[in-house]
Amino acid sequence: LDIEAFRKAGYQAVDRICDYYYSLEKRPVASQVQPGYLREALPECAPNQGEDFQTIADDYQKLIIPGLTHWQHPSFFAFFPTASTFEGMIADLYASSTCNPGFNWASSPACTELEAVMMDWAAKMFGLHDHFLNSSGIGGGVIQTTASDSALVSVVAARSLYIRKHPDVKHEDLVFYTTTQTHSLGVKAGLVLGMECRALEVKVEDQFALRGSILKRALEEDKKHGKHPFMIIATVGTTSSGAVDRLSEIGEVVKDHPDVWIHVDAAWAGVTLACPEFRETAQLDNINRYADSFCTNFHKWGLVNFDCSTLWVKNRKYLTDALDITPEFLRTKHGDAGTVIDYRNWHLALGRRFRSLKVWFVLRSYGVEGFRNHIRQGIELSQYFASLIRASPSFELVTEPSFALSVFRVLPSGDSEGSQAVTLELVNELNRSFYSRLSARPDIMLTQTMINGVFCIRFAVGATRTKKEHIDKAWSIIQEEAVAAVQDWTP
Ligand code: PLP
Repeated sequence: LDIEAFRKAGYQAVDRICDYYYSLEKRPVASQVQPGYLREALPECAPNQGEDFQTIADDYQKLIIPGLTHWQHPSFFAFFPTASTFEGMIADLYASSTCNPGFNWASSPACTELEAVMMDWAAKMFGLHDHFLNSSGIGGGVIQTTASDSALVSVVAARSLYIRKHPDVKHEDLVFYTTTQTHSLGVKAGLVLGMECRALEVKVEDQFALRGSILKRALEEDKKHGKHPFMIIATVGTTSSGAVDRLSEIGEVVKDHPDVWIHVDAAWAGVTLACPEFRETAQLDNINRYADSFCTNFHKWGLVNFDCSTLWVKNRKYLTDALDITPEFLRTKHGDAGTVIDYRNWHLALGRRFRSLKVWFVLRSYGVEGFRNHIRQGIELSQYFASLIRASPSFELVTEPSFALSVFRVLPSGDSEGSQAVTLELVNELNRSFYSRLSARPDIMLTQTMINGVFCIRFAVGATRTKKEHIDKAWSIIQEEAVAAVQDWTP
């Protein structure tokens, strides 16, 4: 494409994207294709001669769109919805247009400087302590690809700090903690780094939150056995049920184990900190008091298109001590003088996308109040959904709703006493069949989970276009499929 052909193709692409958004509600939420559909439709090799771009653009409509699950569909309640915005899309287009790997300040000063400022804007919007600000010169914030990367980078920094303090420790004696409810990012980090990640048991009566007493016991046990605990990954808003680990208790326990780094993974729920009324539930004060690192994803509920995971650390030196490798070809005048941030030393890769541009566009276009309203709307709609479940004798909430997530199941005999008369496995069976009915529906998408042996269904609100009418529609689909599942069910 030359510049004028790009102009034409670009206008057409924008037109088609607008048409896509107009048509979104009429599309099935989950893709209806079968595995291998695309291999059958595509040639086995890249074409020898270049093709006409219009054919390529048309093939996107014809072959790719049917294979997409529409995460922006207002009836998408699965996983954690990704609330994207046109502002974010336009920023991504601009970022892509300059194709800038922005690894250090000199490689494109605007990329580094905008990221440093955006991370401070976001930190202030969330009420994070000044020690997390880039302007503090001590702590700071960096945009990573995902919360998994944010956690991995934090584990790398925590391990490196621990080893520098205890140079004689053997790698195999290192251990860090998560809970049985932590996202798989903890286990993944352990796998990548070849070290033990111990998942601590959490209890139903604590709503699956990690308590200080459980951590204390594990720390003492492991130390007694010659292990070296160096980190705990706590969660604000777990994936399965939105559990919030008790950061104050964890922080107090860790006071007696000062070499233990506290990472707070608030990948999904962290954005609620933008709203003063949710800060207590999301434990802002304890994050500020105890966290060595804190992560939340703008790319989940936070209106910024995938990917954009924000990570703050109390002390940036711990990242750079662990990750700074500077061959001659990466040396720069300002880097050597230490007068600029070189973000390549704050993450794993060298090159990095210009992600702060979309944060800038979104935060300016929405304003902090607009951002808050989006979060508040998600929580209000979720509370509305939970109230429908509570009022119905045919369903129950399996855990207390958390932020914009409800976890529920259908009951066998129309009341919660009835569910106790039959075994857990039978009720699970009923709910599996209920869930498979829901999954077969093109007009809604939900995900399943298992909590303490109970098979249940997650209902997560957060897509930008979800309104009350979509919750009402979801509720009638859920009721309809529940009636059918109970009728079919023979204990
Ligand atoms: N942490 C929590 C609590 C999550 O729910 C998720 C994903 O849903 C993640 C981490 C992983 O996020 P990412 O895909 O950014 O690694």
